Amino acid sequence: MLDTLIKNAVVLTMTDSGVIGNCSVGIKDGKISYVGADTPEAREVIDAKGHIVMPGLVNAHAHTAMCLMRGYADDYTLKSWLFDKVFPVEARLDERAIVAGTVLGMAEMIRTGTTSFSDMYFCEPAVAEAVLKAGMKANLSNAVIALGDNYDFEKDRAVIETRTLLGKYGVSGDVRADVSIHAEYTSPPHIWQRVHEWAKEYGAVTHIHLSETKSEHEEAKARHDMTAAAAFEKYGILDTKTLFAHGVWLEESDLEILARHSSSVAHCPVSNLKLGSGVANVRAMLDARVNVCLGTDGACSNNSLDLFEEVKLAALLAKGSSFDPTALPAYEALKLATVNGAKAQGRGGETGSIEIGKAADLIMIDTSKPNLRPIYDSIAAVAYSAHGSDVEMTMVNGRVLYRNGEWLTIDVEKAIREVEEYAVPIVLNK
Ligand SMILES: [Zn+2]
Repeated sequence: MLDTLIKNAVVLTMTDSGVIGNCSVGIKDGKISYVGADTPEAREVIDAKGHIVMPGLVNAHAHTAMCLMRGYADDYTLKSWLFDKVFPVEARLDERAIVAGTVLGMAEMIRTGTTSFSDMYFCEPAVAEAVLKAGMKANLSNAVIALGDNYDFEKDRAVIETRTLLGKYGVSGDVRADVSIHAEYTSPPHIWQRVHEWAKEYGAVTHIHLSETKSEHEEAKARHDMTAAAAFEKYGILDTKTLFAHGVWLEESDLEILARHSSSVAHCPVSNLKLGSGVANVRAMLDARVNVCLGTDGACSNNSLDLFEEVKLAALLAKGSSFDPTALPAYEALKLATVNGAKAQGRGGETGSIEIGKAADLIMIDTSKPNLRPIYDSIAAVAYSAHGSDVEMTMVNGRVLYRNGEWLTIDVEKAIREVEEYAVPIVLNK
């Protein structure tokens, strides 16, 4: 007998099976064990009539705890935003505050249909515990930043935390370790290579910010006599699995490099627009066969973690910037947030689509909402008309994390109270 059967659904498989109407999805031991027209027996039956069921979304670039700074630093230039506003706050944040921000961010992600995320921040071993409690999936990293003559790799908190994560979680399971080089401009190549040693030893994904702003991209060229992507290739960093965030200013030759090494790029359209960084050329990346996925970046530059916004914006930006409305069709935009995101996390065989054997990481969208009627094409409805708030149920490994206004693994009122009473005074330095 199945554990759970979701029946009468319109199922967006995100595989060659396409959209299946009047479909059941059966779940056993956390995995999808049936997809089809029958209704096999199950302990729990969820009637999904009037709902679209699709894979949970993957947020491939997040600094989740930055929810603490949601609305704290808007309308600044990137440099002033980072150096005058964000860094001073981050220097004050302690583990309790970071966990509080992460829990709030996870509540938002779960509510808006995200089931797995790639997080780059601090105190990641404590964040890992919070992720496990919330029942989500996450690739966690603390990015190495090696600036100044006094930098000591062995004493760097990011290095210590990375070792802890790699040792405790390895690179498989719901919570897993990534390794991370913060960016080309925040560490020298010999440090990149030390991070890369872990990637080789453990098979970990290396998460890196790349060519986010024009000045950053140009300065890298001046420093290395080649682009940042080319420099990472030169020092061997691309020989293992890499996930780059942004890629706004990538050049044609960069795309060839990234494609050659099967790298992924997390496109973060809202954050890139809000910080005035520019518009990444997603069509060119996809044409070059780079695996493009989507990220929200932190809520201090977004200011939301709703991936549905990113899906629609990614499609619109690709169309508007190329004067070609066919540049990124709805289905391809949804792939960025599902199949491609899973692949970028090294979870391609595990999540991102609805097929037998994959984890039951599913969301259910309520299509009775006025903003979703009428429906001629379920894919277009989800990509262009749905909001995260239309998600009625979020499930990871067959376990319901959110349903009908209720979070089952997070006490949201408590999470908000913890953020506002404990962490906000630290942000405000009061
Ligand atoms: Zn970022």
